[in-house]
Amino acid sequence: MNTTNILKKYPLCHRCFGRLYAKLLHTSNYERGKSLKIAKAIELESKLRILMENYNNKLNNKKEENNEELKELENNGIKGLKSEISEIKEQLKYLYKSGLTEIKLMDILEEEISEEIDEKKEENVEPCPWCKNIFDKENLEIISEKVMSLLNDYEYEKFLVGTMLPKSIKQLEKELETPYMESIRQEFNRIMGKILVEKTGKIVDKISPDIVVMINPYNKKIKLQVNPIFIKGRYKKLERGIPQTHWPCRNCKGKGCEKCNYTGKQYPTSVEEIIAEPFMKVFKGADEAFHGAGREDIDVRMLGNGRPFVLQIKEPKIRKADLEKLKEEVNKSGKVEILDLDYGVRKDVVFFKNEPHKKTYLAVVECEEEISDDEISELVNKLENLTINQRTPIRVSHRRADLVRVRKVYKADAKRIDAKTFELTLYCDGGLYIKELISGDEGRTSPSVSELLNKKCICKMLDVLNVHDIENEEN
Ligand SMILES: [Zn+2]
Ligand SMILES: [Zn+2]
Repeated sequence: MNTTNILKKYPLCHRCFGRLYAKLLHTSNYERGKSLKIAKAIELESKLRILMENYNNKLNNKKEENNEELKELENNGIKGLKSEISEIKEQLKYLYKSGLTEIKLMDILEEEISEEIDEKKEENVEPCPWCKNIFDKENLEIISEKVMSLLNDYEYEKFLVGTMLPKSIKQLEKELETPYMESIRQEFNRIMGKILVEKTGKIVDKISPDIVVMINPYNKKIKLQVNPIFIKGRYKKLERGIPQTHWPCRNCKGKGCEKCNYTGKQYPTSVEEIIAEPFMKVFKGADEAFHGAGREDIDVRMLGNGRPFVLQIKEPKIRKADLEKLKEEVNKSGKVEILDLDYGVRKDVVFFKNEPHKKTYLAVVECEEEISDDEISELVNKLENLTINQRTPIRVSHRRADLVRVRKVYKADAKRIDAKTFELTLYCDGGLYIKELISGDEGRTSPSVSELLNKKCICKMLDVLNVHDIENEEN
């Protein structure tokens, strides 16, 4: 579409017209738009002058012409000129209506426009259908003050403005699109960002803002998207019988029933709840999520250097607090202990979830029959650097795909407790089910301790002694 065809359909203001070519020439959209219109107006005006001159000359010559044939030609020429002139006047009119009021200097044109609209001059300019005056000072002031009052409730350092457009504006943009256009969204983000930087003294951060301020500048609706904070650390579980995360009651699915004493919980507490509670109080979050680097069974303790975790606090009102104090608060529980606390980022969650860390376990193995010292030391030798084929254990088969995992035991050590019982320490791949490694799980895990000893064994107690992530890698 050429300049005046666009303006004929949509009387875009200077700023919006300039936005169609935002990627060309380093200047403001307003200046670019106005300049383009001025250039077009100059071109049209000079053409108009020439045409008018020709037209007047022809009118003068016409009287002297007697030859009918020539008269006919002359008349046609005059007609053609007349329509060309009115076409250019038309085009100038669109430029005027889109805000190029400098054109009013031209007498003829002014007549034409005042014929149509006999109100005040500035009302001859039509409202811009793209920006609809959202960049007006008062509008920007109302919106920025509204944002300020919403932000008041939150602690933050870095923010970002995001603009939401009404459907009709999005459609208009699609129709107007040029390869050099920028969306009005980008311009509003930029302008509102600048105003808010000035008012708040905070900074704009496009990569990891604490808060994204979502604004619809047309209806002045504002929404804050408060990004979560991540706190990483390691936890130890000192007591058996505590699940890692909150479990809804199996009977009522969390609604609360007689069986769960109307708590909605299957277990009175969890590692997640013990850790999250004091953090939620201090950071004033709306919700939380607990991400552990794997999980131990409910009856298994987590000892040693602890298991890495990330606590995600959603929509926090506070973003910085004394982590040392929070650590003490959690450790007072006597059930869970946390250490190595620090602020993390979203990526830590993915890392923790995907990294299959090697582990060191301590298991108490009980055999059906008595077991000799020789048998124990032979078992230890066989277990070292042993590859295990483990089909998904029966006890988890309802929630895990049935497949055979190949895992390795790297190191083993054993210590007798009594005639039928011994302690077994294992350093092995993450994801190896230890209870099944000992029992054999009806042949689904092979080789197993039961198989190697040729005696039926069970795991009586289990502790995780160490989770070996990159920083704590053995060897
Ligand atoms: Zn506009
Ligand atoms: Zn219940």
